[in-house]
Amino acid sequence: MPRYVLRCLDCKQEYETTCSFTKLDDAVCPECQSKQKQQIFTPVNFQIKNTNSSDCGCPHSFSCPHAQSCKTH
Ligand SMILES: [Zn+2]
Repeated sequence: MPRYVLRCLDCKQEYETTCSFTKLDDAVCPECQSKQKQQIFTPVNFQIKNTNSSDCGCPHSFSCPHAQSCKTH
């Protein structure tokens, strides 16, 4: 299950919920039970790429123009 960080638009409380995306509308604020919320972080497939290092170890990182032939990819 993906985890979401939400901010209640009514009381400004930030809270986390773990649910499928389609159930996100049903998530309620633990403080005031409001469903009015703003999604402030979505961790799913969200990664900040460091251009100096990557998981595959390729020195060219994900922007490598030779990604197709690079042996480390
Ligand atoms: Zn609230």
